[in-house]
Amino acid sequence: MADHSDGSSAASNSPPPALADPGVITEEDVRSLFDGEGGWGAGYWPYMMGTMGTEDDEMFVQLGSLDRPAVLENMLAAGRWVDVSGYLQRALEFHRDEAQAAVAYPEGDNVPAPTDMPRAHPELFVLPRRMHALELLGSDNLEEAQHYFNLDIFGPTRAANRTLYLDNLITELQNMIFNEGPAAQPLDLPGERRRTAQHIQDYLRVNFPTLDRGPEAAASMATSKRQLYTTWRFGEHIDDYNYRCLVCHQTIPFNTAPDHRMVEHLHADCPAMTPGVRRRLPRPNRPPRPAQPPPPPAAADDDDADPEQQEADDD
Ligand SMILES: [Zn+2]
Repeated sequence: MADHSDGSSAASNSPPPALADPGVITEEDVRSLFDGEGGWGAGYWPYMMGTMGTEDDEMFVQLGSLDRPAVLENMLAAGRWVDVSGYLQRALEFHRDEAQAAVAYPEGDNVPAPTDMPRAHPELFVLPRRMHALELLGSDNLEEAQHYFNLDIFGPTRAANRTLYLDNLITELQNMIFNEGPAAQPLDLPGERRRTAQHIQDYLRVNFPTLDRGPEAAASMATSKRQLYTTWRFGEHIDDYNYRCLVCHQTIPFNTAPDHRMVEHLHADCPAMTPGVRRRLPRPNRPPRPAQPPPPPAAADDDDADPEQQEADDD
């Protein structure tokens, strides 16, 4: 795996702080439960879980540990959207410090707990659930899709803050499920699955920066870092002139100065920008006012003024 350490990211390469709270079950606790003396034995896992994957992978899933990137990748590739929802919910507890630091709307009187997923991480809440609703729609379970949308997507998020991007995502889904139905708009399920998986990974990359990444993501991040000096945590280099914003997932062409343009996009145009992400952005570019005439000498009263001139003015 590529090493991204430098001055600015040294802290984020260290593992998240150990869970000191004695009430929280750690991976070690569970391992000892199964492997330790008098434990049930690791072989018990598959029977207990009754799901695919190795027993070890399932332990990560049940704990909510995202420390083995392949586990989530495999679940996304298998389209286990409901399982992914549960896994990500548990991950907010397991990676609580990260989840806390990444709360989407961290200001105001009613700041949500990091594990209050619909309000603290609304996009992460919606993405896998939306995909499950689309799967229901795609398999002609219209009624079930409507029921699921009302109870599991619309209900929990209706009082939550939403970005324009998330608002569109939910409204479009609602239209598909209630107004148009699957016949009116052909569903590109393979494309939706691929994008949903990618967007979930994007979210984790932006909001959980200290997590370990799979080799593919790590390589892509290393390439992006060479093009997007200050914004590589928020963007991805695709090819010569194309970049992807990891916050809103759009592909954006930048002919010149990609880092500069990405800064502009993030500050001014990104439809998925939340106050939580905004706090971590690099500074905005200087306002483009290069054509200003220099002030007349009499008004030159700042530190940049010529010392001689300043002396003359003082007299
Ligand atoms: Zn964006």
